Amino acid sequence: MEIVCLDLEGVLVPEIWINFAEKMGIEELKATTRDIPDYDVLMKQRLSILDQNNLGIADIQAVIGEMGPMEGAREFVDSLREQFQVVILSDTFYEFAQPLMRQLGWPTLFCHRLDVNAEGKIVDYKLRQKDPKRQSVIAFHQLNYRVIAAGDSYNDTTMLSEADAGILFKAPKNVIEEFPQYPSMTTYEELKQEIERASNRDIILSRQ
Ligand SMILES: [Mg+2]
Repeated sequence: MEIVCLDLEGVLVPEIWINFAEKMGIEELKATTRDIPDYDVLMKQRLSILDQNNLGIADIQAVIGEMGPMEGAREFVDSLREQFQVVILSDTFYEFAQPLMRQLGWPTLFCHRLDVNAEGKIVDYKLRQKDPKRQSVIAFHQLNYRVIAAGDSYNDTTMLSEADAGILFKAPKNVIEEFPQYPSMTTYEELKQEIERASNRDIILSRQ
């Protein structure tokens, strides 16, 4: 039995914070973990910028809803789900992802949660656990699933190394160079073929 684990941002949907910052014209919101490596510091800064700009969850969801998934993402996920159990492992928040997940046909998503008060203001956030993508793959292994994983960036590499087969998708050049052990794909067609290849290879090996 196999599970395909996919990253969300950069794989099926655009980078949420960067796109949101661009749409709102708020330059400071473009900071990512590359600029501020401590995720906690980064998130506190983001929440304080939202507060200063009087942006609540409804404003953010409205903007995110207009983003839409990447072209062909919905068709890719639908066709993958005909062959595999698919789980999306992401470092985003359910409240942000919701408008995009609707457009992806509500696949299973494991991510984090925001703390929103009665007025719709984001007051805090709750990370589900440390290194959640890797922990999910470990848990699937304990359930006797074989795991094929695909992602685009540094926060995916522990998931890729824990999986039985790891694949880079639309990864930046530095990530591809730093992790040459993973095949690197750029279109959904290629990615699907690589997933099928990783899957078939196992069936052939187990028959020997
Ligand atoms: Mg990503």
